[in-house]
Amino acid sequence: MLKIEHLGIAVKELTTAIPLFEQLLNTPCYKTEEVASEKVKTAFFMTGESKIELLEASDENSPISKFINKKGEGIHHIAFEVENIEAEMKRLSALGFELINEAPKKGADNKMVCFLHPKTTNGVLVELCQEIR
Ligand code: ZN
Repeated sequence: MLKIEHLGIAVKELTTAIPLFEQLLNTPCYKTEEVASEKVKTAFFMTGESKIELLEASDENSPISKFINKKGEGIHHIAFEVENIEAEMKRLSALGFELINEAPKKGADNKMVCFLHPKTTNGVLVELCQEIR
């Protein structure tokens, strides 16, 4: 793993969370993007080498609505940047980590992504991401 690429934070409303995080981090939101396949709207902030990703559900069947109904708003996942996502997926799968998606898929912010099931990672939803070059 190269670094923590971003932390994903589940929020109810981007319209109120974006200005709040702009104040908190003292930096503007540099991008908002809807990921239709994941039913989420995202907003990104630079914080040094890493980013903060806010996630709002775009409908009630979104994994983010389920998360917020169960646990409330808050830290949703941690994303690690990897050099070669397919090789990392193979490595982790061979070690017994459960991959949520079998093949890398297109995520927000120009990345190919794969999630690891929290039941095999001490309750932490882990995202692997590789920049699309
Ligand atoms: Zn993410």
